[in-house]
Amino acid sequence: MTVMEQPDLFAAESQALVRARQAFASDAAGADHRGVLGELIAHYERLMRETRRLIGRSDRAERDMQQMNRALHQLALQLQHRATHDPLTGVLNRGALIEYAGGVLRGEPAVLLVLDIDHFKGINDDFGHPAGDAVICAVVDCLKALVPAPAAIGRVGGEEFSIVWPALAPCQAAGVAQRLCDAVRALRHAGPVDRVVTASIGAGWFARGTAFEAAYGRADAALYRAKREGRDCVRLDAD
Ligand code: GH3
Ligand code: MG
Ligand code: MG
Repeated sequence: MTVMEQPDLFAAESQALVRARQAFASDAAGADHRGVLGELIAHYERLMRETRRLIGRSDRAERDMQQMNRALHQLALQLQHRATHDPLTGVLNRGALIEYAGGVLRGEPAVLLVLDIDHFKGINDDFGHPAGDAVICAVVDCLKALVPAPAAIGRVGGEEFSIVWPALAPCQAAGVAQRLCDAVRALRHAGPVDRVVTASIGAGWFARGTAFEAAYGRADAALYRAKREGRDCVRLDAD
């Protein structure tokens, strides 16, 4: 392998320095010293100009890089948010809810609720899909106001939502579920939707270590009972 010879970037300056050292060491007369000093001054000034220019350029490059880093960080956050949230309602999407609830249940007991809007097809049929979307958003806004972190809401289907709620005692499951059910019924909807919209809820309290699939299956079975037994009501896994 041949080693490439690097050109000496400071050849002229090095030579001027050699001459300056020689003049410094010699007893040469003043005129010679002046000549060497003049050459040294010219090189020194040029080096200062170049250094200022390079510092300015490197400062600009650093600022550009910082700006690019900030933009990349923002983009990564946006992508992460899009990958984990439902675009219509802003709550967690199905995958993210499963992951979050699974993690909660691995570490502590939690209440898991499954909520489904009643007769929602009729809303779409009677008032149109956009009005249906607005109803979904209104229901979710209502849930958001009543579900404090670290509890979390996820959209697990078209008009079906799941809520994982840690740090609740088993006896609190029915109360929180009923409060959500009552709040959805109390909503008054905008525009053409001139009817009361209700939701059915299945809920259960699950011990630490319960697999998410098992907890969801049991809460969903309770939801199915709520639907069968008249809708607009809460049924518990324990009942
Ligand atoms: P039930 O009381 O048994 O739950 O009856 P339902 O009519 O609510 O139930 P079903 O699951 O049969 O209907 C849900 C409908 O929700 C069907 C689908 O067209 C509609 N849907 C799903 N996703 C969306 C959405 O994002 N926006 C709107 N507007 N409608 C949706
Ligand atoms: Mg429904
Ligand atoms: Mg449904």
